[in-house]
Amino acid sequence: MVHAQESVDLDMTGRIRQEAFQRSQVMATLGHLTEVIGPRLTNSPAMAQANAWTRAKFTEWGLTHVHDEAVDDIGRGWEFSDAGVEMLSPRIMPLHALPKAWTPGTTGPVEGEAAFAKLQNKADLEKWKGKLKGKVLFTDELRIYKVNEKSDFNRHDHESLEDLLSYPLPTDRRTGPDQLAQYRERLEFTPLLNKFLVDEGVVATMSISSWDNGIVRVMGGGSRKAGEPVGVPAMVMMAEHYNTVMRALERKQAVRLRLNIESRFTGNADEPGYNTIAELPGSGPQRDEVVMLGAHMDSWHTGSGANDNGAGVAVMMEAMRILKAVGARPNRTIRVALWTGEEQGLIGSQAYVSRHFASYAEPVDPAEKAIPVSLRTNKGKLRRTPAYDKVSAYFNLDNGSGKIRGIYAQENLAAAPIFEAWLKPWNDVGATVVTQRNTGSTDHISFDRAGIPGFQFVQDQLDYFSHVHHTHLDVQDHVVADDLKQASAIVASFVYNTAMRPGKLPRKMLVED
Ligand SMILES: [Zn+2]
Repeated sequence: MVHAQESVDLDMTGRIRQEAFQRSQVMATLGHLTEVIGPRLTNSPAMAQANAWTRAKFTEWGLTHVHDEAVDDIGRGWEFSDAGVEMLSPRIMPLHALPKAWTPGTTGPVEGEAAFAKLQNKADLEKWKGKLKGKVLFTDELRIYKVNEKSDFNRHDHESLEDLLSYPLPTDRRTGPDQLAQYRERLEFTPLLNKFLVDEGVVATMSISSWDNGIVRVMGGGSRKAGEPVGVPAMVMMAEHYNTVMRALERKQAVRLRLNIESRFTGNADEPGYNTIAELPGSGPQRDEVVMLGAHMDSWHTGSGANDNGAGVAVMMEAMRILKAVGARPNRTIRVALWTGEEQGLIGSQAYVSRHFASYAEPVDPAEKAIPVSLRTNKGKLRRTPAYDKVSAYFNLDNGSGKIRGIYAQENLAAAPIFEAWLKPWNDVGATVVTQRNTGSTDHISFDRAGIPGFQFVQDQLDYFSHVHHTHLDVQDHVVADDLKQASAIVASFVYNTAMRPGKLPRKMLVED
């Protein structure tokens, strides 16, 4: 088989490099998004501010069709402004804990006795009924501290990049029946538990952070849906403090705690969330075709969402700015999307793909319907819109601020030689690898599962999975500026090349039941 040589416009590549490396604005963009606006929980007031600010920025840079697109059924917003926990006895000390999103605050300072109780199923609720009034419930076991002997900060080396070139045969990727059953069980149990906690007069619940060393790793609790019980105040405590309380309880010491959490639900249940969209319009014969790039703008609430995924947003915005600044006149239209609701199951990107390109029929069985789209196995025929054949590819960035080392081709064999040619001018800044491996769990999957070429780049991990991911340390200090400059340049060149090559990117076979 003969491949036509994939041609790369090196003059344009050079201009992109100059703009990205010499006149970068990526850190200014990131700084405003994450430190002036702050963390951007889905549908929170800060997320709305981020929608408005990014729209203004895109407009200032001269992009077109700048607008927000509504995403329905996304639930309420939530924000918090204070979270204090003190141990009053056996001795006085402040404890470090932060609230789970979408849980109620306290109304002023409240006190309670610490108690350990696991509440994982209906039998547990039966067992503890009538025994928990006035308690602050510690719901996880003590976790013995283990020193991490591996490095906390990692970049790919020759060996790890080489490893990506091998393709391990995958296990069946469909969501297994056990996983679905578990999901359904949790879906059914959570409202019962939340109601139980309120009925029993529990003061608050406390979970242990999943990482050690003072890092508080905290996501959501309660409920985003109005009308569903949100339970009592729920926090995640740093492991070392959590264990301190647990050891006191094991010694049968009475532990008295004081909590003060100020938080509030925002908006109405039926208010939509928004994806922010902007375009650099195509001016060639294929101007009605589109190349997309994007990253999720929503974040968790305790850091500033600088790495997850302020970094991805800043890079995608910067790529658009660069293309405009270097005077790119793409053949196809280049469209950027800053998604909402990624952390709740790719809601924003999924809604976008369904509306504009393709979707599977909604299940009729209510139990099936309750499963988020991102966990469902494709069923039935894919329903395509006329625009389905007009989209070439989608490029995503969502693994922190580490520089790009290559791209996951996602088993799209025909795309690999094209990407290899495109990576050549970036080999000298560390981007070399085209792997056939699949990577998941972020917004390119919404495109990939509909048969639209959707890609995520291979990035250096840095301290993303030791310090930053979903923690209160997800702030600008953990962002590496040079890495974001490198990534912005490569993303700009990839979307430009996709917009300019004679054909759309090849699609892999779509398996339809
Ligand atoms: Zn993310």
